[in-house]
Formats: sequence, structure tokens, C-alpha cells
Amino acid sequence: NRMARSERDVPPPVRRKQTRFEDLPEYKQVQTQKAASEQLGIENPFYRAHQTAAGATTVIDGRKLINFASYDYLGLNRHPHVLAQARDTINTFGISASASRLVAGERPAHAELEERIAAFYGVEASVCFVSGYLTNVAAISCLMGPKDLVVHDEFIHNSALAGIKLSGATRRLFKHNDANDLEHVLRTVAGDYRRILVIVEGVYSMDGDIANLPAIMKLKTEYGFWLMVDEAHSLGILGKRGKGTFEHFGIDPRQVDIWMGTLSKTTSSCGGYIAGSAALAAVLKATAGGFVYSVGLAPVLTASAIASLDILESEPERVAALKRNGALFLKLAQEAGLDTGLSAGFSVVPVLVGDSLRAVQLSNDLLAAGINALPIIHPAVPEGMARLRFFITSEHTEEQIRQTVAVTAEKLKDLAERNFGLASIDIQ
Ligand code: PMP
Repeated sequence: NRMARSERDVPPPVRRKQTRFEDLPEYKQVQTQKAASEQLGIENPFYRAHQTAAGATTVIDGRKLINFASYDYLGLNRHPHVLAQARDTINTFGISASASRLVAGERPAHAELEERIAAFYGVEASVCFVSGYLTNVAAISCLMGPKDLVVHDEFIHNSALAGIKLSGATRRLFKHNDANDLEHVLRTVAGDYRRILVIVEGVYSMDGDIANLPAIMKLKTEYGFWLMVDEAHSLGILGKRGKGTFEHFGIDPRQVDIWMGTLSKTTSSCGGYIAGSAALAAVLKATAGGFVYSVGLAPVLTASAIASLDILESEPERVAALKRNGALFLKLAQEAGLDTGLSAGFSVVPVLVGDSLRAVQLSNDLLAAGINALPIIHPAVPEGMARLRFFITSEHTEEQIRQTVAVTAEKLKDLAERNFGLASIDIQ
């Protein structure tokens, strides 16, 4: 009998021991880092709970602090119009969309937001996802497959990398913001790819410099790629009206194939979007797993994003204030001899300090002095390139900026004099 024969062919079971989570190398690394910090008396700067909505100021452990660690670039998170729209929406629609939009999760605000975003860019359509991270993962993995090629700036965000990996496409990177190197990669890459996607960021999240979009766009005709620009840190920031990278360079937005952005930063909500042609939006809505099989964006978040766009469009002085603040921060930091790397002085200004330990200690020293700015350490950046990252908002005062730069320079000098850093200790 068939059953008996197939059972005979199956080898006897091998007892496999389950891996304990405690034995994962990643867990051991976390424990080692924790032990080293405790031994050195360095407090963990991450996961500190804020007791208020963090903007230009915040409250931690009951202390009011100047805050440079919030994405609320235009101070809209507590804007009365945004709050009123959010409250109204909660009253009518509750909190959750309670289903995928495809089935029972569609609400009027979804189409309204997507039309607003499309109009904002002057493109045909847009589609929203429940997080910025998911937007990159879902869109890239939907549009690209194993027969395709993705070429990206070496500094692009982890979410785009995750999308590329999931897509199964061949991945090549080019030197940061170097259009010549991009051309070199496009010219020399072997293989007959079905489609090519090039991914850059408008303002780079770790370095705060701006994509060299005009030079990259020049390559489009020859190499026939789709261009995708992540506007997470440029929406509401670049350009006179805060429209982003296209306005900054005076480019026709329809010449970029895929605009990506997040709703969690300038628009003080949560979620992300892709904007471009009607066909692009239709494909994503019909086939992107992260859209079709995920809950619709919460109505309250959809309404808050719309309300934030209202303010962004009606109060361009906020964009101007952010620009002034970014330029002032950069100028003062450079005058104080701080290493601001590549920053163009808009939304993100890093201060490079060397190794991870020094960055963590500097962040803690600033906190003690009443300033909250978080370190970016390995593996988010290469070891030796650790930094404090300052997010500039329209709400910071000149005094707060002057004080922060002065204190940062002073505390960094103290650390240098104490020769504080990884090289000075011996962690086993
Ligand atoms: N892209 C970039 C460049 C980002 O910096 C981030 C988050 N910081 C994201 C995408 C993901 O957006 P979200 O946090 O809204 O999920």
C-alpha cells in the first residue's frame, strides 16, 4: 500500500535542539554592550520616555529640556487646527480603520489625503500606507523582482534596503551623492535587466545633505531607469513653499517617477505615501502586499496629515523659519569648529564626534546641561563616524540654537581633553 511505502522511504527523525533566544549572537552583543556601559557608568541614552509631545522643547524625568530630537519639523503636532480635525474625526470614525481598505477599511479621508498629496506634487495620483517604513518595503518589493536591478545611494534608509531585499532584485550601490559613480555603475553593470530603479533621498537622514537630483536626472534618458526619491526629511523643508527637492531645484515633479514620503515627520501623523502616475498608484493599490493585506491608515492619522498639509500650505512662514534656524545652526556650529559633515543645514545637522562611546557620553553631557540630542552610533553609521544628530524645527528660538551649539562645543572639548573614547578603555 502507498502509505506504507512512502513511510518506509522517509528517514527516521533527527532530534534538533531548538535555539534559545539567549544564545543568539545579537542577544550576546546587546548584553555585552549593556555590561560595558554599566561598568563605565554610562547611562543608556535610548528609550527615554518623554512626558509631553516633544517639539522644540520636551520634558524628561520632570525636567524641561531644549529638544533637537523630534521630527516635528514645522511644529504641527500640537497645532490647534490639526488637533481639532483629529478630534472631529475620532468622534465620527473612532480610532481604527478596522479593516484593509480593499474590504471595509476605506473612509472618505483616504481618497481626500491621496488627492491632496498628488495635487501637492502636481502629479496624477498617490497612495498611502500605514508607515513610512512600510511604504518603502511595500512599494519597492511590489515594483521590482528577481529579473530587475536596483541601484541606490550608499546612504539610503534601512526601509528601502529592506524593500530591495524582499524584491529579490539585484542590488548595486553608488558612492554617496555621486552622479558620476551612478553612471559608472549603470554603464558597467552586467546583465540584461527587465527594469532598473534608482533610489536616492531628497535630504539624507544621517548627513543632512541634498541629493544632486539635476545630475542624476540627466542620466534618465540614456539609461532608462525609474527614479525614486525619498522625501522623508525634505517634505515641508526644501523649496520656498516646502514642496521638497523638486521645488528646491526648480525641477518638474512629473520627471521623477516615484515620490516617496512619510507622514510622521513634517505632517505630524503616521504613515507614508507614494506619489506619481495614476498607473503607478493603481498597481500599488491592487498588488502591493503591504497595502492590500494591511489595515487602512487610521482615519485620525489620515485627517491629521490632511490638516498638517493645510497649515503647510497656508503658513509658508513656518518653512522660512525652519530654513533660518537650520542655516543659523550650521553657521554657528561651523564657527565653533564642530564637524557638521556634509550637512546643508536644513532639517538635519549632524555633529560628528568619532567613536560611539564618545557620542553617547556627549549626548548624556548635553542632557545634564538641559539639551536633548541623540547619538547615532554603529551599526547605523560606520564606527568612527558616530555623531549627534540635531533635528531642526521652525519652533526653535535663536537663543536655544546659540545655547545648544555653545554647550555642544564646550562639552566636546571637555571629552577631548579627557581623551574620552573607545581607545581609552579596555572592554573585554
Ligand atoms: N525614509 C527615511 C529616509 C527615513 O528617515 C525614515 C524614518 N526616519 C523612513 C523612511 C521611515 O519613515 P517612518 O518613520 O515614518 O516609518
